[in-house]
Amino acid sequence: MSIESINTLLNKAEVKCNQSGTKLTLKRKLILQQLLESDRLLSAYEIVERIKVKENNTMPAMSVYRILGILESSNLVHKIESQNKYIACSHIKCNHSHQSAQFLICEKCDFIKEINLNHTVIENIDHLSEQENFKLKFSVMEFKGVCQNCQT
Ligand SMILES: [Zn+2]
Ligand SMILES: [Zn+2]
Ligand SMILES: [Zn+2]
Repeated sequence: MSIESINTLLNKAEVKCNQSGTKLTLKRKLILQQLLESDRLLSAYEIVERIKVKENNTMPAMSVYRILGILESSNLVHKIESQNKYIACSHIKCNHSHQSAQFLICEKCDFIKEINLNHTVIENIDHLSEQENFKLKFSVMEFKGVCQNCQT
């Protein structure tokens, strides 16, 4: 992604935060930026390392974890539980609501892509949860496989 488009997304994220009553502080912005720059999953420690090398800035892992949690609850970042790693949301530029997220994950290189399942599939999941009297908050689906690069 180009620097211009990353900056556009960071500005958009800032607007979204303001609208929902939170703030995209400089530290939060820096962490989101690392994830936007990467097309791979990043762990909190990898983010700490990138900030150290690229930005010449020291941020303790604990605060990176805390900030990732805040970014996650603002839907700017998603946590991939199976790997305990993070990815920037691909809908930061969008204005629609975001109730579920689905990902294709390469088992070999950690490449990740957020995809959008058909509405009827999501509605089906909503319906099944309802039948179980289960209040769905946010669903994350992970699909494991091998990416195009790793197939060759
Ligand atoms: Zn998303
Ligand atoms: Zn979208
Ligand atoms: Zn791969």
